[in-house]
Amino acid sequence: MRIDPDVCISCGNCIVWCPLGAIRMEDAAVVDRDACVECGACRRAGVCPVDAFRTESDERPYRFAFSDPSVAKPTGIAGRGTEEMKTNDVTGRFKRGRVGICIEPGRPGTGARFYDIEKITTTMARLGARFEPANPLTTLMCVQTGKIREDILDEKVMSAVIECDFPEPQLQKVISALDAIADHVDCVFSVSCIGRADTDGRVALEHTLRGLGIAYYPNGKTNLGMGRPLAAEVDEQ
Ligand code: SF4
Ligand code: SF4
Repeated sequence: MRIDPDVCISCGNCIVWCPLGAIRMEDAAVVDRDACVECGACRRAGVCPVDAFRTESDERPYRFAFSDPSVAKPTGIAGRGTEEMKTNDVTGRFKRGRVGICIEPGRPGTGARFYDIEKITTTMARLGARFEPANPLTTLMCVQTGKIREDILDEKVMSAVIECDFPEPQLQKVISALDAIADHVDCVFSVSCIGRADTDGRVALEHTLRGLGIAYYPNGKTNLGMGRPLAAEVDEQ
């Protein structure tokens, strides 16, 4: 994002709207382009009385892709991740015996660089991750090695979503590896584990997580009438 210094009247309205603290006041308001993730929050807030914001979607498409929900995606995939991480009831892609892992590096206030995100994806790849092909980040990396395109490693984004899955017995190793890597990345990240509930309501990964001293907070979504793949699988057993 740029602010046109010939248009800005230095009212200061926009400064508090930037979630990365990237706008400062000099003679006119100025955007720190390295800190700015191109989220567009300043422009969308509608607080500029003179329309001084100039977007840079062509120059910095990957920052836009992972930070501004309102723009077309150069990855060719909308959003930052897939809804199936939360629901599993449209495609039923998480089978029994597999555990889904969703890692979200970055947050408003900090953002994340692709070189830090790559430290996580390469670690997951070494452990045998199967990366979700419909995830936009997956389109920017090698699914065998987890290496992200070299030309975008310095780019900063608000956040990204890494989606992959493993055989369930790998869960302990995966969580331990994520714990170890937390000291080596310069951003925050959250981790969600996705497991299938048995018909008695039990979820196998609960035992592993509790064994690692991790509090178990089940979250779920129910999309009534959309659970056909899972219903079919239960019928076959
Ligand atoms: S586009 Fe987002 S990060 Fe950049 S200056 Fe505006 S609010 Fe801040
Ligand atoms: S709101 Fe517009 S005029 Fe006011 S400081 Fe920001 S860019 Fe300048």
